[in-house]
Amino acid sequence: MTLLTFRFAPSPNGELHLGHAYSALLNQKLARHTGGRLLLRVEDIDTTRCTPEFEAGMFADLKWLGLGWEEPVRRQSEHFADYEAVLERLIREELVYPAFMSRGEIRAFIASERRGRDWPRDPDGVPLYPQVDKALPMKERKRRIAENAPFAWRLDVGAAMARAGKDITWAEFTDETLSATRPVEACPQDWGDVIVARRDIPTSYHLAVVIDDALQGVSHVVRGQDLFSATGVQRLLQKILGLPRPAYFHHRLILGPDGRKLSKSLRDTGLAALREAGASPDDVRKMVGL
Ligand code: GLU
Repeated sequence: MTLLTFRFAPSPNGELHLGHAYSALLNQKLARHTGGRLLLRVEDIDTTRCTPEFEAGMFADLKWLGLGWEEPVRRQSEHFADYEAVLERLIREELVYPAFMSRGEIRAFIASERRGRDWPRDPDGVPLYPQVDKALPMKERKRRIAENAPFAWRLDVGAAMARAGKDITWAEFTDETLSATRPVEACPQDWGDVIVARRDIPTSYHLAVVIDDALQGVSHVVRGQDLFSATGVQRLLQKILGLPRPAYFHHRLILGPDGRKLSKSLRDTGLAALREAGASPDDVRKMVGL
């Protein structure tokens, strides 16, 4: 029987808080109960916001919590070549296109359109990328690239969905015990033409996650509810890239006293602050209901 493989994949762009503790400890608990593996992945493709100091703090917090993971830890910033190779395949297959508009240009374009007020937005509330660059003739694309115009690579979601065919679904566990799943239909089109490689790096969050989950043999992705609908995009990428389909569980979020999602800038629910204030790892387990 193949071992189940779980992973905790934080980004070291701030201090870990109770929400991360819950996610990490739940992955640990599930790996233990199933006799599976637990991997740790450092998601640091954003090399300006992710710092060695945050990373060191993250390791200290996780060790203090008693997490324990298999070595070596995969650090995404050390694997840009892996992502670039896959990106090149998507470029060759014409499933991505160079997107030249800056955020300001997108805003201006949307404002100038008569439909400006009801421009479609993604599940995070961000306006979808206009269809202008997708329609650019190849000659014009090449001219701009030759002139060093900055651009990101965006997925042509329509072309990708046509390639993927029907049945873009994933299996979602219905509760923390992972005893049953329900099928969920992916709706990647809700996100429009997502970025698969940013202006300065040959990948994006979505691309790096699906490549790494496949490379690391992750069978069970257990992460916060806030990533539920992004899973549709990732499922589409897996399908067009011929990658295996992990099963997913999107767990409840730990909310702050104000009922809002925790953020890395809220220090009082930060693990380091709790530790300094005298909390024990057991206190943290109780606080997150584990
Ligand atoms: N790195 C992401 C985060 O810290 C999580 C990615 C994932 O679990 O798929 O929000």
